[in-house]
Amino acid sequence: MVDAIWSKVKQELRGRLAQRHYEAWIEPARAVAWSDNVLTLEVPSPFAREFVRRHLGDEIERTLGAVTGVVAGVELLVNRALEERGKTSRPRRARAEREGAAPDANGAPDYTFDSFVVGQSNVMAYRAAHAVATEPGVRFNPLFIHGGVGLGKTHLLAAVANGLRAGGRPVQYVSGEAFVNEMIAALRRDRMEDFRRRFRGIETLIVDDVQFFAGKERSQAEFTHTFNSLHQNGKQIVLASDRAPEQMSGLEVALRNRFASGLTVDVVPPDAELRDALVQQKLAAAGVESEEGVLELLVHHWWENVRELEGLVTRVAAFASITGRSVNRVLVEEALGMTARRPPQRITIEAVTSLVCEQFSVTREELESARRTARIALSRQVAMYLCRHHTDRTLVAIGQAFGGRDHTTVVHALSAIERRLREDERLRDAVRSLQNRLTHRE
Ligand code: ADP
Ligand code: MG
Repeated sequence: MVDAIWSKVKQELRGRLAQRHYEAWIEPARAVAWSDNVLTLEVPSPFAREFVRRHLGDEIERTLGAVTGVVAGVELLVNRALEERGKTSRPRRARAEREGAAPDANGAPDYTFDSFVVGQSNVMAYRAAHAVATEPGVRFNPLFIHGGVGLGKTHLLAAVANGLRAGGRPVQYVSGEAFVNEMIAALRRDRMEDFRRRFRGIETLIVDDVQFFAGKERSQAEFTHTFNSLHQNGKQIVLASDRAPEQMSGLEVALRNRFASGLTVDVVPPDAELRDALVQQKLAAAGVESEEGVLELLVHHWWENVRELEGLVTRVAAFASITGRSVNRVLVEEALGMTARRPPQRITIEAVTSLVCEQFSVTREELESARRTARIALSRQVAMYLCRHHTDRTLVAIGQAFGGRDHTTVVHALSAIERRLREDERLRDAVRSLQNRLTHRE
């Protein structure tokens, strides 16, 4: 569970924090416990603890709160072993960077074709991506996938990259943003040759979120150049964007035409059948064993894309783990805020009786007895009055409950109390207080 929460929080933070902060402070941290709404993180050094606490603590807690749906805190511990781990992995990372491996695709080894749920709304994109991963450069070049946020474009692109890499084939995966940033950095340092070389030896170039090129003329010119030289040499190009090529404003016509020159496919929000399959897969992936009705509830809950569904599932899983309860309809409704935490309780004769006994210092037996001392008679009448106004029981049932009395006795009690309430301020207070306690019972 703790891993599921932390990986979700990391995923969110990745989009929110500056990349260097994410890589320097969040990536090396390890989540070790989640209990009492506190996430315990281990960081490599006292310095890291101080930095994270001061500069990133609020953001982590906010994100954690959003992910788990509870007000959550973060506790930071120092674990020197993480530092060792960081040191040994650093040279590897540097080499990967030199070779131009994509941080995004590397960070998502679980984005595979197997873990992609296929339905009407994404089957074309899936098939095209799969074909490209099997035989790059042969068909569909470029392959351009477009569609709204959270619908699996990055997943498919990463699946292509992972598939090709697994087959030992050279592939370059880069986001449109990274392409632009790295190009600008290379320009500044007068290292354009290095930058271009990076794209030379590869067989497949995958660029995610190419809408980022909009309005950036120098980047578009550079990318057009890269695109042309790869394409002319029969190399595969795969692109994703939040909109179709013809809808991309701020893009040179020539580049737009190139984007649209191969196969363009879209992904659209899932239909009912795919929603069903996605819910099943996401519950299974989160290790949630759900009871009757949960699936249905999640299928029909409001979510427009798969990322939102994943958020819901994480929240449900976290809620179950925090409360130690099993995942049934009630828990899901509570976790997703579909009902108030505490459903309003039905008021029973039983509840009225015990409050009245307490307030007037009488016993239940006395209320049910035939005794008519002033105190007991008054308590009994108040109890009947409250039952009449706060329960759905009939006059007959109320009479029955108080010593098997006739319903006319109840009618008499009601009018007697109403009359006394008009005159007797103390009784008014007492009844008002009883009513408050009845309707706000814990
Ligand atoms: P996009 O790039 O289109 O905004 P992503 O590929 O980042 O969307 O998808 C958002 C999340 O939803 C990811 O975690 C991804 O694995 C998941 N997802 C999207 N579509 C599917 C699918 N068809 N099957 C399984 N997971 C999916
Ligand atoms: Mg994406």
